[in-house]
Amino acid sequence: MDIHEYQAKEILSGFGVEVPPGALAYSPEQAAYRAREIGGDRWIVKAQVHAGGRGKAGGVKMCEDDHAIQKACEDMFGQKLVTHQTGPEGKGIYRVYVEGAVPIEHEFYLGFVMDRSSQRVMIVASAEGGMEIEEISAEKPDSIVRSTVEPAVGLQEFQAREIAFALGVEAGLVSQMVRTLMGCYRAFSELDATMVEINPLVVTGDDRIIALDAKMTFDDNALFRHPQVAELRDKSQEDPRESRAADRGLSYVGLDGNIGCIVNGAGLAMATMDTIMLAGGQPANFLDIGGGATPERVAKAFRLVMSDKNVQAVLVNIFAGINRCDWVAEGVVQALKEVQVDVPVIVRLAGTNVEEGQKILAKSGLPIIRANTLMEAAERAVGAWRNDLSQATRMRAVT
Ligand code: ADP
Ligand code: MG
Repeated sequence: MDIHEYQAKEILSGFGVEVPPGALAYSPEQAAYRAREIGGDRWIVKAQVHAGGRGKAGGVKMCEDDHAIQKACEDMFGQKLVTHQTGPEGKGIYRVYVEGAVPIEHEFYLGFVMDRSSQRVMIVASAEGGMEIEEISAEKPDSIVRSTVEPAVGLQEFQAREIAFALGVEAGLVSQMVRTLMGCYRAFSELDATMVEINPLVVTGDDRIIALDAKMTFDDNALFRHPQVAELRDKSQEDPRESRAADRGLSYVGLDGNIGCIVNGAGLAMATMDTIMLAGGQPANFLDIGGGATPERVAKAFRLVMSDKNVQAVLVNIFAGINRCDWVAEGVVQALKEVQVDVPVIVRLAGTNVEEGQKILAKSGLPIIRANTLMEAAERAVGAWRNDLSQATRMRAVT
């Protein structure tokens, strides 16, 4: 789960990371009022969306008076901000963060990520901040400092000092850099984050180290341990199909194609999507109903898939190991009776009790297109989607 910059800053500041004074606003007037409360004579108005690259896309504006703040806000509120991280559809701006402008002397990049190959938290830092990490690694790869943290002991001060030295931090600022690194690491590990990124982390004209940007991502599977983090979820920033699925305990990723997939297990979901593409189609989603595919779950999954207007065929691909094909087949039949499904449905079942499962589908009298292998199922789904009904009917006759 992603959170907003202002939320990440509030969390990190609780762990000793210095951030500029700032406040959230939901309207242009409130933003101007907030700026007066913050004081000073220059402010930055920042669109709060779950994506980086806002600066270049017009989502971060420097303002010198009330009028400029209101104008900046009017240009942002209600708009979709399209950055290189949002995809072409962009993300809606419903909140802005107003911050006192900080005089920047130097910008660093600082990131904490889960490094799966070393199975450790990895700190990635560079003295070439301000650019995205992808640009830094393409243009100044030698400037990147990497260090992994031993989980049994956590980040040690000597290690944080080494990172500060490797970045060329001035002697007088090393202890502030160490405090920043230690704070980010503690926030990362105590809150089960999967990513903390500060870009830029700046040295100011008056020798302070301040986080001007902050991004945090959390492990969804650990959110139950951190209700105060789970509360920060902002559904306006998520794909509505994915939010609805998450609310129903299903794992769903919306895609751009036309073939809806209902599958059990993430690996099978990937294989199903690959096979659909191999057969010349495009999946509309990745939907994993998980292990215990009860009829209720299957019905929920159908409802969700059918709510996507792009779906022109649904492929159900279940491999029953712990599950049983007859239960799943009952689920499919029940779902098709409950949910209005006006597109072709292709079902491929394999594993435990597959014959009983097939019988239930056949006896249901519902227009279900059955397939024995995944390739067959994908081809039938693609055939049906292409509205090549003659092909679909011919195949149904063969089954
Ligand atoms: P993004 O990474 O989404 O573009 P940032 O928060 O990094 O957004 O802001 C973009 C740029 O705006 C920063 O690299 C920094 O140069 C400048 N900036 C952001 N916040 C401040 C601030 N409080 N004071 C001065 N400059 C800022
Ligand atoms: Mg940034």
